[in-house]
Amino acid sequence: MAQTLDLTQLRQVLIGACQAIIDAREELTRADRAIGDGDHGSGMSRGFTAARDALQEAELSTAGDAFKTVGSAVLASSGGASGAVFGTMFRAPGKVLQDQVLTADGLSSALQEAAAGVRARGRAEPGQKTMLDALVPAAQAAQDAQPGGLLAVARAAADAAAAGSAATTDLVARVGKAKSLGERSLGHRDPGAISVAILLEAIAEGIEEV
Ligand code: ADP
Ligand code: MG
Repeated sequence: MAQTLDLTQLRQVLIGACQAIIDAREELTRADRAIGDGDHGSGMSRGFTAARDALQEAELSTAGDAFKTVGSAVLASSGGASGAVFGTMFRAPGKVLQDQVLTADGLSSALQEAAAGVRARGRAEPGQKTMLDALVPAAQAAQDAQPGGLLAVARAAADAAAAGSAATTDLVARVGKAKSLGERSLGHRDPGAISVAILLEAIAEGIEEV
């Protein structure tokens, strides 16, 4: 159980998160077939396969470099709304993580930057049935858990993302492809919110195992 991650450990944790998304391809495809166009699983799988491969090769000088490597690969490879949104989620923290270790403070700051970056890029707000309904509560929970250390931050973020993702079932879509369904989007989880929950759970489990 580590309270900071060095760059080798961070690389492994993020590779694990990429793999978790790749493994969830079918679940994400089904979720996007229900209220979108069905391409979320294939797009995320393509982007995070590129990210995993890039991480295996990348020269990392700072913790931010590891996140930026993921975000740049996703941005270049995923396509669709999720390429921009998940690319931004991982690229945005790059500038605030200038140390050679990831700390509790660093992971919390990374999630604040990720949420702010995605909000600005997608011009969306929480409550509109997007991945922000998982990411914004995760960032808040991370901040609240910061005194408890890195593992507490990661676990709190993952649990809040899972709860936020589940709660998208009861939201009407206001942005993205599901918007045209209006009330018919009720009863389905948002695909992007499921992805955020999977990513943050894999990061928490990865840190728990270090
Ligand atoms: P597309 O909508 O282009 O088919 P995907 O199916 O891969 O792309 O991704 C859809 C997901 O992207 C949605 O479930 C939602 O979580 C997220 N999303 C779409 N538009 C936005 C936005 N403006 N802001 C935040 N997230 C968004
Ligand atoms: Mg789609």
